[in-house]
Amino acid sequence: MPRLIIATGNPGKLREFRELLADPSFELGACEPTEPENGATYQANARIKAEAASRATGLPALGDDSGLEVDALDGYPGLHSARIGPTQDERFRLVLERLRGVPRPWAARFVCALALAVPGRPTEDFWGVCEGEAIEPGEASGGFGYDPMFLLPDLGRTFAELDPEEKHRYSHRGAAVRALVASGALGALH
Ligand code: IMP
Repeated sequence: MPRLIIATGNPGKLREFRELLADPSFELGACEPTEPENGATYQANARIKAEAASRATGLPALGDDSGLEVDALDGYPGLHSARIGPTQDERFRLVLERLRGVPRPWAARFVCALALAVPGRPTEDFWGVCEGEAIEPGEASGGFGYDPMFLLPDLGRTFAELDPEEKHRYSHRGAAVRALVASGALGALH
């Protein structure tokens, strides 16, 4: 089975990649990036993670950089979604504080940039988006990160309330992985 390193230290993302890449199947490993995420774009950060993991292991590696963008906040927290506060509760609080007094609905999207770094090949980029709404997070315990704060208005449920297969059908990460699979880049590793 071909090996593929997922360049993340985020357990939520890793679990999702294990589900999304079960078929076509890979022996997946994880490598936590230590390089600073100082790219000016999601794609640049995804490349930093993928290329560092591929260099460190000598194997193909997939990097992900993602974030939540709220339209009324000019895309905040965006590229800095993971770093605006020390805990997820604090990050919810910081986004909601800025939304105080802003009329609803709070249109928002999740975006996901992927980079596939393969030794001896140029790095390839992939992209996925999921449109929805930011809301005050409820009690749902599923998912990770900003999932409880992201509503799919057509379903009337947040990402945290979807089972994994459902989330992948709609999510930014699901869309980006489907673009990666459709490109044939993974097939070339088999
Ligand atoms: P980074 O890509 O590791 O810099 O971090 C992305 C940030 O966006 C983290 O705070 C994640 O919790 C959040 N994020 C990315 N994708 C998702 C998702 O599918 N659900 C919830 N939060 C997400």
